[in-house]
Amino acid sequence: MTTSDIIIIGGGPGGYVTAIRASQLGMKVTLIEANHLGGICLNWGCIPTKALLRSAEIVTNIKHAAEYGIQVKDFGFDLKKMVERSRGVSAQLSAGVKHLLKKNKVEVVDGFGKLMGKGKVEVTKDGKRVAELTAKHIVIATGARPRVLAGLEPDGKLIWTYKEAMVPDALPKSLLVVGSGAIGIEFASFYNALGVAVTVVEVMDRVMPIEDEEISAFAHKALEKRGLKIITKAVVKKLDKAKDSVTATIEKDGRATTQTFDRVIMAVGIVANIENIGLENTKAVIEKGHIKINEWSATDEAGLYAIGDVTAPPWLAHKASHEGVICVEKIMGAKDVHPLDLGNIPGCTYCTPQVASVGMSEAKAKAAGYQVRVGRFNFMGNGKAIATGEPEGMVKTVFDAKTGALLGAHMVGAEVTEMIQGFTIGRALETTEAELMHTVFPHPTISESMHEAVLDAYGRVVHM
Ligand SMILES: Cc1cc2nc3c(=O)[nH]c(=O)nc-3n(C[C@H](O)[C@H](O)[C@H](O)COP(=O)(O)OP(=O)(O)OC[C@H]3O[C@@H](n4cnc5c(N)ncnc54)[C@H](O)[C@@H]3O)c2cc1C
Repeated sequence: MTTSDIIIIGGGPGGYVTAIRASQLGMKVTLIEANHLGGICLNWGCIPTKALLRSAEIVTNIKHAAEYGIQVKDFGFDLKKMVERSRGVSAQLSAGVKHLLKKNKVEVVDGFGKLMGKGKVEVTKDGKRVAELTAKHIVIATGARPRVLAGLEPDGKLIWTYKEAMVPDALPKSLLVVGSGAIGIEFASFYNALGVAVTVVEVMDRVMPIEDEEISAFAHKALEKRGLKIITKAVVKKLDKAKDSVTATIEKDGRATTQTFDRVIMAVGIVANIENIGLENTKAVIEKGHIKINEWSATDEAGLYAIGDVTAPPWLAHKASHEGVICVEKIMGAKDVHPLDLGNIPGCTYCTPQVASVGMSEAKAKAAGYQVRVGRFNFMGNGKAIATGEPEGMVKTVFDAKTGALLGAHMVGAEVTEMIQGFTIGRALETTEAELMHTVFPHPTISESMHEAVLDAYGRVVHM
């Protein structure tokens, strides 16, 4: 029986960051990981997709090379190498996490952790018990897996989840992507850039439905311009598999049609990994399939905490990490610890063009009772965007008309996943329109569009 101050079950961006912070605060830490350090994010999520998308971006740039005065003859690409590179990046970062945990004196136990009563965790590997651990504090960071819809179950061959979509043996000629959230749209963008005929079916009335309506509409047009076929307000009712293809029954406006695709990617959300971890013997409450926590990540069972994808949305790596840091800082009574502001977590989608946002959309702000002032700026008025050949994009800012508080910022276009952090910091510092207007933005940068979108909200836009 090994005793630590804290046991963390799951070594994703939630678990491993929590482990490091707990160690920095002086705790003796044990981290249990069943599969791969770095979790879904490093191994099957955030990182390997960005590696693939980078390959796709380079292909696209080469296709447009002539516009920049560059002649490229006989270019081709090697899908196997793209996948190998993506897997290599994941392996490199996962090894990096192992090193960081060692450096921070975190004990890592390889196996599946299960709660066995107050403060006790059993670890098994290949059906055998490999460790019995005890600690005053236990953090569940077991993450999530793809959501499966009845009748549309992935088989790993013709109907893929994100895992198979990330390691294709060959390019399909045609692809159906079910779901237009960040994961679905990123894969749609990747395969489309490599020449696959991609159709996206979305049940809601617009793509990336959690984004501001104007940004969704802008992205929809831009994606269609690149060749994606998008069907909104439609439901995939049935998937009939043949030897090497799938026929989808798609219902829209009460009418069902069928269409055949080489492959299908199901990207309809996630479900939390809450099974077989001994939660039934605790007072922890499950709400909408995820573990209920308070503002410090404490569950209803004393000494038991949960963070990341196993808890309520947003299901993002940076939310998972931050939640864990706050959780252990609170346990250790660190100074200035305050709850996570769920309203100020940026969300990014790395399709082309990229999409990024933080805070409330215009519709949400109005629904929350705010009288809003809205600013917009199109990249067509931005020198850097024109110079780099990326004039397709916009920034939208939403302010509280009474106080000048920045309620939300929404962007589509090149580099916006890097730029959104500017507005996130602004919101964290409770900035107002006046401070943003007084801030000097470097020239020429696409970030000047952020400044202009603020100026526009107050009738002072310069380059439009
Ligand atoms: C294709 C894709 C792309 C994504 N892109 C982004 C992105 O660009 N940006 C972003 O912020 N988010 C992205 N995400 C979401 C992101 O991956 C998750 O939000 C994040 O990984 C959640 O972290 P976590 O630590 O809560 O869980 P996970 O990363 O899921 O880690 C949980 C870990 O716990 C382990 N585990 C589970 N049960 C046990 C057990 N009983 N014992 C021991 N170990 C266990 C698992 O093996 C896993 O390693 C993406 C997700 C996918 C699928």
